[in-house]
Amino acid sequence: KVVCVTGASGFIASWLVKLLLERGYIVRASVRDPENAVKTAHLRALPHANERLKLCKADLLEEGSFDIAVDGCEGVFHTASPFFVNTDNPQKDLIDPAVKGTVNVLNACGKAKSVRRVVLTSSIAAVMFRPSRKPEDVVDESFYSDPEFCKQNNLWYPLSKTEAENEAWKISKVQGLDLVTINPVMVVGPLLQPTLNTSSGAVLRFLTGAASTYPNTAAGWVHVKDVAEAHILAYEVPEASGRYICAERVLHYESLVKILQALFPDVPLPTKCADESSPRAPEYKVCCDKVKSLGLKFTPIEEALKECVESLIQLKFLS
Ligand code: NDP
Repeated sequence: KVVCVTGASGFIASWLVKLLLERGYIVRASVRDPENAVKTAHLRALPHANERLKLCKADLLEEGSFDIAVDGCEGVFHTASPFFVNTDNPQKDLIDPAVKGTVNVLNACGKAKSVRRVVLTSSIAAVMFRPSRKPEDVVDESFYSDPEFCKQNNLWYPLSKTEAENEAWKISKVQGLDLVTINPVMVVGPLLQPTLNTSSGAVLRFLTGAASTYPNTAAGWVHVKDVAEAHILAYEVPEASGRYICAERVLHYESLVKILQALFPDVPLPTKCADESSPRAPEYKVCCDKVKSLGLKFTPIEEALKECVESLIQLKFLS
């Protein structure tokens, strides 16, 4: 039972590696620099890492970089992709690593005759961003983001995820690979890694006072353990196929802040919306029946947010 997890040092991937090791898998974990202790010490310290975890060096932008890590694996979980929004050069910083990285990883899977299934960490960002979506629509796996719409609206991270997923489906057809994608909303929960990832940072900024208001928009939220579990179910359940949206709940930021306030009554949180003159943005509807049919049970988002904040305190991002 040998599998590969790309971008293993990341927030979601660290949980995936942990759960895979707990289930007896031999895990090849690709990181950019195996000698970087900040990025890898938490992986080396995981239960069973001594016996069954091997760190491999690979970079999304280097052609052929993943060939060795993937060769001999039955399953490949491709999670590595930059996730941030502020950049002056989205092509270089977001789109190239996401798309070229996916091409490199999937080509490596095609070359390695051992690979039985590839699970790609895509995103709701590759699902929702299209001009024709109406507030009353129930978003499901049949929705695809429109790259032109993303470009016109400077939605560079969604563009990177949309183009990467599209590329993955194309290559999987050409290479005859069994591809499944996981499309999560904002992922939160305890951090295993010592560095701050973007979705945990999105919660942190309300608690530190960095955000004095909350945005007039809604976002979906899901526990990181559930997302890692969804990846494993998508790999292990033979009939799993296509895309799987993962969302426990969609919340307007006003509701998110209220949940945080109830959990942490002593922390001053924003009470005003950034855009009070406009009507409250609607909470989009999303259907997760498909991933539930694999056996996934969602953890209530209150628990994920509580564990996220406790972990941010423990890691000293918050006092
Ligand atoms: P992290 O930022 O924690 O992890 C991203 C990973 O990608 C890191 O391991 C990073 O390596 C790696 N990476 C980035 N650029 C390169 C590169 N050029 N070569 C090799 N590795 C690279 O993010 P998350 O765990 O949050 O995200 C993981 C995946 O999940 C991504 O594909 C993201 O798009 C997707 N996702 C995340 C959501 C969320 O809310 N967190 C929601 C939906 C999808 P390094 O540590 O060296 O920088």
